Amino acid sequence: MEDMLKIINVNKIYKINKYENFQALHNINVSFKSGELVSIVGESGSGKSTLMNLIGGLDSDFTGNIIACDQDLSKLSDKELDKYRKDKVGFVFQSFNLISHLSILDNVTLALTLSNVSEKEKIERATNMLKLVGLETQIKKKPTQLSGGQKQRVAIARALINNPDIIIADEPTGALDTSTTMQILKILKEIADSGKLVIMVTHSEKVASISSRVVEISDGRIVSDKQNNKYKKEKAKIFRENIEPKKTKKPIKQNLSYLSAIKLSLHNMLASKTKNLLMAFGVAIGIGSLLLMLCFSSGITDYINNTMKSYSDPTIVTISKQSKSITDIPLFDAEGTEITKLKDDINKYLEENGYNYELTDENLTPGFNIMTMLGPVSAYLEYDFNKDGEITDDEKLNIYYLYTTPPYYSDRNLVEGEMSTSSGGVMLTPAVYSFFGEETPIGKKIDFYVDINLPDFDQEIPINQVEITGIVDTSVMSGFPVIYIDYDFFMSYYDDYSTPQPTTYYIQTMIDSNDLTESEAKEIASAINRYISTLDGYTGSIEESLANMFKSMASTIGTSLVILSIISLVVSAIMILVVMYMSVSERTKEIGVLKSIGARKKDIHRIFSSESFLVGLLSGICGLIVAGVLLVIIYIVLIHLVGIAPLSFKWYYVFIALGVSVIISILSGLYPASKAARLDPVESLRRE
Ligand code: ADP
Ligand code: MG
Repeated sequence: MEDMLKIINVNKIYKINKYENFQALHNINVSFKSGELVSIVGESGSGKSTLMNLIGGLDSDFTGNIIACDQDLSKLSDKELDKYRKDKVGFVFQSFNLISHLSILDNVTLALTLSNVSEKEKIERATNMLKLVGLETQIKKKPTQLSGGQKQRVAIARALINNPDIIIADEPTGALDTSTTMQILKILKEIADSGKLVIMVTHSEKVASISSRVVEISDGRIVSDKQNNKYKKEKAKIFRENIEPKKTKKPIKQNLSYLSAIKLSLHNMLASKTKNLLMAFGVAIGIGSLLLMLCFSSGITDYINNTMKSYSDPTIVTISKQSKSITDIPLFDAEGTEITKLKDDINKYLEENGYNYELTDENLTPGFNIMTMLGPVSAYLEYDFNKDGEITDDEKLNIYYLYTTPPYYSDRNLVEGEMSTSSGGVMLTPAVYSFFGEETPIGKKIDFYVDINLPDFDQEIPINQVEITGIVDTSVMSGFPVIYIDYDFFMSYYDDYSTPQPTTYYIQTMIDSNDLTESEAKEIASAINRYISTLDGYTGSIEESLANMFKSMASTIGTSLVILSIISLVVSAIMILVVMYMSVSERTKEIGVLKSIGARKKDIHRIFSSESFLVGLLSGICGLIVAGVLLVIIYIVLIHLVGIAPLSFKWYYVFIALGVSVIISILSGLYPASKAARLDPVESLRRE
């Protein structure tokens, strides 16, 4: 009969360090046939395992030739060796080397998974194989739930699943008691009798005595090679038939598929749930802050865009004095000196720029607009709902802005009611609806108070029994309780306390339609706007100054969020790197096992990369949850504190978050994955 395995002049030298070598095998020459049950015996350290690793294609660093199944192992490429391990040899180890987070069934099908065999065929073949070793009832259990003998039978089933020609068993019974040893030996004998070559390393005389041939190694040399005449070959048809794989269509790609890699990593991740959840939570903080930043910056942008869209007239320019701080209310002087100078400057600018137009006092309308929610001026209105003459907290509403009605306000801004006039009345924003409840506020008479606390002017101005004439929609301001009052009407009260000083002037470029066409008026207005934007100490509309305030607030918060999210993403990346790195060293043995059953570098890489992919996905999802919860909290807090929450969530942020998280973890997992792929299988298996 043809030799199944021929070992010719094989020498193996281990490099101990730079200067020293150790020769573990000397000139080994030996041949084996199929159907043999060979025992390799010898003292510990004599080179038995070294030889097994060479035969099994786990170690290709030797001189000489090993001809196995008509292939010269010394001439095979890494890829061909992977295939040889997958299809031609099966390994059984002393310490079983089952993968603890996989079920018995999954352990056995692993080699088939690496070949992308269909799920149905995998289960059928593995169940069959487990039946042959007497474990068909245990397939759902995990390795830790089995006895030593059972574990070894699983390992045998795993070794046989790809119908190899050679079974290599390195001290398969070393960890078993006598009776289980005999069960395992019986199985190995049946395998040999079914026509396979079984080579096992053993220390036990008794084990050796039941084999068909005993080869003894001492100090890396074969010192004896005896056939056992008493060996009786038995009919082992059952094994033979069942080990033969069914002739099904081979999958097109005989590699580990991405889907299987993800399934394998999922099993592993589930085995260390707490670790992975904690890691994901850590990464989620980074992803969450990234999301918050996105929502916040787009919220601000949206808010400002809305502000700019507010109902203003493009032929009117608003000019206000710019406040340096929230407590500062800069006013124009009562005599009009400042505005006159400004008017002259604007006229000079218009003239220099070729506009044939001159502003006069008639073009200017004063206004008094202040924020009353913070700073030295506050305002509130009172309405005695039950007419008992007493005002409770429920009957008092804080006003956020006090506006004198701008000249461009007209009926088109009204939601309800009528415009107020210089002879009286006020208008309010829709935000007051909730204050008045079911009843309409139109026609109601309120008491309105403006409380000014400036060092040289400390007064409360009461405007009693003033009628609400209308509700105005001013887009951006609508969410706030804002009061609109006619400038002259307001100043008639204000006048009692001090000389009126406006905060704002409206420059109307078109007072009389005979004067300018609308488009000319617009053009001049935008020229004036351009000029004003170059001036220090003045701003355009109050909406614009509000927008500027938010912009600067947003950029401060935005910058800190950017820094925070960059830091936490970097920390996340390092954390993933460390955890994955540790996972590689924890799973060294598993990697060795995978390589022994023919996993290619690529497959190992794929398993670890899919794990980082899953970690990324999990972290992204946690990040979305974290951000979602925070967004709700921040929203509620902002609404309560300032009345608006400039946060907007766009659906595609979900994909940004998941994408960033997955990319970061895949990148961080690259190094650990390639380290895992490069691990030396022999050393990995030696690891305890
Ligand atoms: P056995 O399996 O017969 O007990 P091994 O084949 O494991 O022996 O080892 C044979 C010899 O080779 C021993 O002396 C051992 O110390 C040495 N050896 C094994 N692996 C290495 C290695 N990676 N580097 C250096 N020496 C090694
Ligand atoms: Mg050994």
